[in-house]
Amino acid sequence: MSQTLGVVVVERIAVGVVENNGIVGSIRVFPEAADETDFFEGVPAEDIVQQIGQEIERAGRDAAIEAIGIGFPGIIRDGVVEDSPNLKQDKGQKLREELTALLRQRGISAPVHILNDADAMAAGIAATRGQLDKLIRVWTLFGNGVGFGRYPQADGFWEGGHSVVTLDPKENYCGCGGIGHLEGIMGHRAMRLRFLDLEPEEIFEQAQAGDARCSAFVKLWHRALAAATATSIHMDGPGKIFISGTNARFIQIRLLDQYLHEMVKMSPLQGSALEVVSTSDEIAIIGAAVSAKYATLQRG
Ligand SMILES: [Zn+2]
Repeated sequence: MSQTLGVVVVERIAVGVVENNGIVGSIRVFPEAADETDFFEGVPAEDIVQQIGQEIERAGRDAAIEAIGIGFPGIIRDGVVEDSPNLKQDKGQKLREELTALLRQRGISAPVHILNDADAMAAGIAATRGQLDKLIRVWTLFGNGVGFGRYPQADGFWEGGHSVVTLDPKENYCGCGGIGHLEGIMGHRAMRLRFLDLEPEEIFEQAQAGDARCSAFVKLWHRALAAATATSIHMDGPGKIFISGTNARFIQIRLLDQYLHEMVKMSPLQGSALEVVSTSDEIAIIGAAVSAKYATLQRG
């Protein structure tokens, strides 16, 4: 049976062997400590590549790997990281080329395919739910990065995390530097800059406890995601929209759904469904692997 290797690099490196749209054995994670969400901040790009190579080598040791798929944050085109606001050191990196060379030195010659991490998630949802014929959209809410993935993958950029959701010129907390962006409201860095005295988890805790400032922000947080989702629906039509990533745990789905209904009124655009998907690593690994296999088949 053919096996592929799926890798996701978001907050940490997670690797798994994939067969038949499922994970074989356990997922390898580096670093193992769950709270190290800013691990890659300031780590040189070459060191990140070395670490990814090492994890691939360890995970693939006893498997006959046909292809390797890597979900990586940022704008990825033709194996190159064209930009990555939350991993700035990787901007311009020829990730596929470097990783292929590094793996060859270690005796691994399987082709490497790099794709945006949120696109890997969308492909994983499509594969694990047997919906490879449907349009799948997914928001990935990780610490700093807010990703937008789409399956099937289409030419273009799909940087939904940088959707403009407010015209207030003071909303300038996005890591990319753009004004009024979704990530400038939903990302950790943005939340810390806005509150200064509170960690993101504390903001949600205090909102639940009834704090007025935190409650207002949590509403804004949901409204911003609803706005970006509404824009996607107005451009791409209605459908199933998933929300995943570590911060999907803060989503109040009914509130989000209510805001979305307030923002999308034309009848042909009605009928979208929102769903939170919590098993992020596993699904994104499968999606990266499936995409790599498909890319390999296309190349012949
Ligand atoms: Zn931005």
